[in-house]
Amino acid sequence: MRNPWPLDHPSRVDRAAERRATTDLAACDAIVVRDGRVLVADGRVLELRPDAQPPAALRIYLGRDGDRDLVALVPEDPSFGMDPDGIGGDRMRGLRGLLAGFWDRGAEGEREHELATTAVAIATWHANHPRCALCGEATVPTEGGWVRRCERDERDHYPRTDPAMIVAITDPEDRLLLAHATPWSPRRFSHLAGYVEPGETLEQAVHREVAEEAGLTLSGLEYLGSQPWPFPASVMVAFRARTERPDALALDMDEISEARFVAREDLAELIASGEVILAPKGSVARRMLEDWYGGPLPERRPDASIDV
Ligand SMILES: [Zn+2]
Repeated sequence: MRNPWPLDHPSRVDRAAERRATTDLAACDAIVVRDGRVLVADGRVLELRPDAQPPAALRIYLGRDGDRDLVALVPEDPSFGMDPDGIGGDRMRGLRGLLAGFWDRGAEGEREHELATTAVAIATWHANHPRCALCGEATVPTEGGWVRRCERDERDHYPRTDPAMIVAITDPEDRLLLAHATPWSPRRFSHLAGYVEPGETLEQAVHREVAEEAGLTLSGLEYLGSQPWPFPASVMVAFRARTERPDALALDMDEISEARFVAREDLAELIASGEVILAPKGSVARRMLEDWYGGPLPERRPDASIDV
């Protein structure tokens, strides 16, 4: 079994949890993060030395990289790095748009992926959880930014990660199910996916979501891999499975407006003509597609219509 996203090795940067509470965060090199964006230059995530850093609203300890400690820095100024004519071309860029650039750069790309993903995930958690969920008091960051503490009732609040599952489904002819979720932009197709609910296993979530959304029963469920997906706070857990009854396909039109089983030889033409737009490079969904396809997907023809 191939891992569709090769993140099964230990983290490239030691998260060094034991250093979170004791490290002087203002003395660390920093990745700048705000509103789901990170500061990049030429597609590379920048690590700013302390004397080059903007005033910080918050610093969060990311880990120990060799002999250096790294933090995520949330700038005080919400417009920091947003000027398209900014100094030296440095920009705040959305994480989704950066994923493809991490794709082919081996260990260095994986290192940037994990730093940027962690920075976005935890900075988003701080932004979305300013108050105690129990008493409403404003909470304060502690433990290097990995805890928010309510000083009124002395409770600690921790960052959350919500598991979501995604599954590549094939039929007896080894055709792949491609589905269009109702809220997506036109022509975008991918695998079925959904959130894991309290009290169920990941596997049960796969069976339930596929039955609800497409009316299919599955067999041969296999785990493929996972990918942090901080939009805003998930980890995507990827599976593949088979259905023996593709003719049972029955869509929940509130969720899925179109779905079909596609053969490999037909997919190339669907992509080339622009009729189908698939998940971008850098996503686990793309890896799952290429795992089934047997290699890199073909490109859209340059003259293919993209108007809808
Ligand atoms: Zn409280």
